[in-house]
Amino acid sequence: MDLKRDLPPVRGTLTPDRTMSDLTWLRVGGPADALFQPADAEDLAAFLGALAPRIPVMAVGVGSNLIVRDGGIEGVVVRLGRGFNRIAAEGTRVVAGAAALDAHVARRAAEAGVDLTFLRTIPGAMGGAVRMNAGCYGRYVADVFVSAEAVFRDGSRASLTPEDMGFAYRHSDLPPDCVLTEVVLEGPAGDPAELAARMDGQISRRDATQPTRDRSAGSTFRNPAGFSSTGRADDAHDLKAWKLIEDAGLKGATHGGAQMSPKHANFLINAGGAKAADLEELGEFVRKKVFDFSGIELEWEIMRVGRESSL
Ligand SMILES: Cc1cc2nc3c(=O)[nH]c(=O)nc-3n(C[C@H](O)[C@H](O)[C@H](O)COP(=O)(O)OP(=O)(O)OC[C@H]3O[C@@H](n4cnc5c(N)ncnc54)[C@H](O)[C@@H]3O)c2cc1C
Repeated sequence: MDLKRDLPPVRGTLTPDRTMSDLTWLRVGGPADALFQPADAEDLAAFLGALAPRIPVMAVGVGSNLIVRDGGIEGVVVRLGRGFNRIAAEGTRVVAGAAALDAHVARRAAEAGVDLTFLRTIPGAMGGAVRMNAGCYGRYVADVFVSAEAVFRDGSRASLTPEDMGFAYRHSDLPPDCVLTEVVLEGPAGDPAELAARMDGQISRRDATQPTRDRSAGSTFRNPAGFSSTGRADDAHDLKAWKLIEDAGLKGATHGGAQMSPKHANFLINAGGAKAADLEELGEFVRKKVFDFSGIELEWEIMRVGRESSL
């Protein structure tokens, strides 16, 4: 397709053939056919409304849950930036632009005496957090979600309720080409100093147990059982993906520049110069070996998107 010819005019920035590798935590990925950074929600809605329906669209946040394949992404990738970063506390509610980082939202909420501390150590932005029903320490976006503003592929806009979202473990029912622009969360009231101290403790615990300084996309595979509608049960059961990977002797396993972290076996890392194919192939190898060893089929938690490389 002649994408350049088919792209409607915008107020924000449209970049053809934009490499994705510096926009993902794993630092891999070929180019998006076009990257769109809208000026505001009106710009986004007008662009999507005018864009030929055959051109695929996908949003990305900060790429902390993604392997973008080496052949890049077909169509338009929407990445929200300035204009979608606002964070405001109103009583026990917090309104956040979809590009606001989870950590910033947690900190601003705590300063206002609102407990969204579970977001502090999740490295994504709010759009990705809501789509993925991100969570840790037994709390999930689904527990605090009030509403979200969305722009659909045809340019129409809507306010989404919890019922619209269909949250499940690391999942929502949002159409894949729908872009969230703003979200409202509500947390319990808390003492700002206590909330700040709790977040400091969470950071120390993460640094002690996970390869937080390496290039990863968080947990590679879901813990294999115990999903509930909000995901709560998943933290409660004993069958952990890291344990299955360790038992199969794959902690520290390498393939090209990819490695299963020697610090936490369920973290797939770019140990230097990895291609997306190295990471995905190592992940598939681990799935096969774990199945051979334990009879349990691991399910990817990292999303893999885009085209295989033609090289
Ligand atoms: C070190 C590390 C630790 C992690 N720990 C946790 C954890 O404890 N708990 C947890 O849940 N996750 C964790 N993750 C995974 C990841 O941070 C979360 O899934 C996060 O919510 C993804 O947000 P993102 O902005 O990076 O989204 P991306 O990875 O860019 O995208 C993820 C998905 O969200 C969609 N998306 C992004 N923005 C929008 C938008 N504006 N509108 C609609 N859809 C959108 C994308 O299309 C894609 O489907 C961790 C990752 C790392 C690297």
